[in-house]
Order: sequence, then C-alpha cells, then structure tokens
Amino acid sequence: MALDIARGIAVLGATGSIGRQTLDAVRQCLPHGRVRVLTGYRKTAEMAALVAEFSPEKVWMPEPPADNWGCEVVTGEEGLLSCARHEGVDVVVNALVGRAGLAPTLAAIQAGKHVALANKESLVTAGALIMAEARARGVNVTPIDSEHSAIWQCLQGNEGNAVEKIILTASGGPFRTWERSRIAREATAEEALRHPNWHMGPKITIDSATLMNKGLEYMEALWLFGVRPEQVEILVHPQSIIHSMVQFADGSVMAQMGLPDMRLPILYALTGPKRVETPFPRLDLLKHNTLTFEAPEEEKFPCLALAKRAAMLGGTAPAVMNAVNEWAVGQFLRGKITFYDISAIISQALDSYTVQPLTKAGDVWAAEAWANNFVGRVSI
Ligand code: NAD
Ligand code: MG
Repeated sequence: MALDIARGIAVLGATGSIGRQTLDAVRQCLPHGRVRVLTGYRKTAEMAALVAEFSPEKVWMPEPPADNWGCEVVTGEEGLLSCARHEGVDVVVNALVGRAGLAPTLAAIQAGKHVALANKESLVTAGALIMAEARARGVNVTPIDSEHSAIWQCLQGNEGNAVEKIILTASGGPFRTWERSRIAREATAEEALRHPNWHMGPKITIDSATLMNKGLEYMEALWLFGVRPEQVEILVHPQSIIHSMVQFADGSVMAQMGLPDMRLPILYALTGPKRVETPFPRLDLLKHNTLTFEAPEEEKFPCLALAKRAAMLGGTAPAVMNAVNEWAVGQFLRGKITFYDISAIISQALDSYTVQPLTKAGDVWAAEAWANNFVGRVSI
C-alpha cells in the first residue's frame, strides 16, 4: 500500500541528523508532503524555526516553550505517543535514537500508521512484535537505514524469486585500519566522531566505530526481510558507495549504489517503490573508481559477534544487549570508559542474563529494567 504523504507526515526526532534530513528531503523534493507533527528535544530555537516553516498542528517538546508556537504543544511520555498516533497522519518517520524509539513505533502501528523507520533499535528489541502488528494492521514498515533501503530496492521486481543471501555492507568505521593494541590505547570518542563517510548523531557514530551498528543492522535485516541468520553476510566496503546487495538463487547479485546521502533512502522510504526527482549530486564512478571489499575483523570489533550472539539467543536477549550498549556508548562519549569496555560490559551482561520469551512490549521493558540494574552495578 502506498504511503499518503499528502495526507500527513509526523517526524519524530525532527532536530536530529535523520529528522533534519527528512525535513530537507520534504522541503526540496516532496512539495505535496504535509508535515502535521514534529517532535524536538533540546534545540528549542531550531525547533521554533521548523515550526514556523512547516506549520505543524502538533509539536512535542520535553518542556513547553516560553513563547506561543501557534500549535498544540504536548510533553511527557504520553504526549510523545499521541504524536505517533495523531489523527490525519498517514506515515510516521521515526528518527528517534535508541530505546526511546520503540514505544512510539508500536503506538504508530497500533493506530494504523505506516512507519518509515530510522530507529533500528525498535526492530532490534522487538522485531517480532513490530512485524506481527504491522501485518495484522496492514501497514508498512519501510526502512530508512541505507543498507536496508538498498536491499529493499534490489528486491523490487523479484517477488517470487528466492533470495540466497543478503550482503550487508559496512564502512568499517574510523578504526578499520588500526591495530587492536592502538584501538585499545587511542580510540577515544573524539576520534570515533570523525566518521569517514557519514555525518550522523553521536550514538550511531560510536556504534559504527565498534561495528555494533552493523550488528544492529544484521538483526534489522532478519526481521525486515525474513531471512535466516546464515543468509546474511557482512562485508566491509570502506567507500560506502554500494549500500548493500542481494544474491538470488541463480547466483546473480543485485547491488544498489549511490553517494552516501541519507536523503535518498529517506525519500525512498516515503515514496518507494516510486522514485522522485532530486537535485542532489550524482554519483560519478570515474571519481569513485575504486570499490574495495574486506571481511570484517570480529576479534578487533567484538560487538559484531556479540550482536550475533544476542540474535541467536533470541527472546529478550537483544533488548538487554541494546540497553547495555546504549548505556556504555553514553559512558564512552563522556570519556568514562574505553572502547573495549563497551564490548566487555555487554559480554558480561549477556553472560549473567537469563533470556526470557518475548511476547509483549512489557517483556522488553522488563529486560531493559534488568539492564538498568546491571549497569548500575558495573564497576570500572
Ligand atoms: P540524533 O542523535 O542526531 O537524533 C536523534 C533525535 O532523537 C534527537 O535529536 C532528539 O530529537 C530525539 N531524542 C533523543 N532522545 C530522545 C528522548 N529520550 N525522547 C524524545 N526524543 C529524543 O540521531 P540520528 O543520527 O538522527 O539517529 C536516529 C536514528 O536513526 C537512530 O536509531 C540511528 O541508528 C538511525 N540511523 C541514523 C543514520 C544517520 O545517518 N544519522 C543512518 C541510519 C540510521
Ligand atoms: Mg546503516
């Protein structure tokens, strides 16, 4: 079913990296898109400017703004969920970061909204629930993540053709060429924030440096495309030009290429499988004339193996892994722990956690409560 962006779009996380790029894509390429709901966070002045430009009906902020924005302003947890359910909105762009994204994803789907999903943590922690609810309500969950967008694009016109494997590409992050001992000594948050190809929010930037991002994307792919774990291969491709590939039963491989610009997968999530015209720079393969591929080094980047382990454990294990990772990334960003502390703490958490079945959202909240308690006892 096509998403009706003229009826209404909600952008959750409007002032973040994906939120801003979503609004820029709407501004430049979707003149018929109607932004009815925006949620902000801390950047009040930037949010006020977006409200003035897009005239939404409803806005969420952690605190009510001092001046009048000429629209309904809501706050609190319930307010955020009401944004995801807002009457008249057909598609919710979930560009929130981390575990805060799951409840709004579920609320939107349960209210019959399509979800253009950047918040991969939703699928990681509760993929089974999200996919089952979406099927039951007949709504689409379209990927904004560039790799999953690429896979979705490669699958177009191939309905009924068996997928042999999905080849998920990874940039390898800023420490790809460093020795393990140098990473242990010198991999600071500041170094990690200098990502070679993409400019993203701080959490995903650190996840890219540890390769946890690829682990989260591995789980995201399992849910979105219904493939088995052994059908997903991760390949390091430092130039980030091929965004991912699909190999079919005849051995043929389809790849999707483009400059690393998140506005392209964002637009495809809103209009796909239709494409819209864009004024963005074009890929010049004479300039980008070297495309290389390497195997990921799991001993240097243990988070990748930890994500696979959590996926294999299933149930609530990914929710624990995700919550502990989010906490550890926060600590790393504040300079409190080292690069390899992140994986060591997640590994300890998975060792001491007894996995529970996942049948309702409450199971995720319980797993996250366990993780909160666990990190409260971590001594570094
Ligand atoms: P970001 O940090 O730039 O923005 C996230 C936004 O979420 C914040 O600006 C804020 O508006 C909101 N937010 C954060 N915590 C909140 C809370 N507790 N309650 C309400 N709102 C809150 O992050 P980002 O890079 O835009 O990433 C967003 C999501 O998209 C992540 O799940 C990330 O993995 C995914 N993603 C991002 C990129 C990218 O290029 N940035 C690419 C692929 C996927
Ligand atoms: Mg990605």
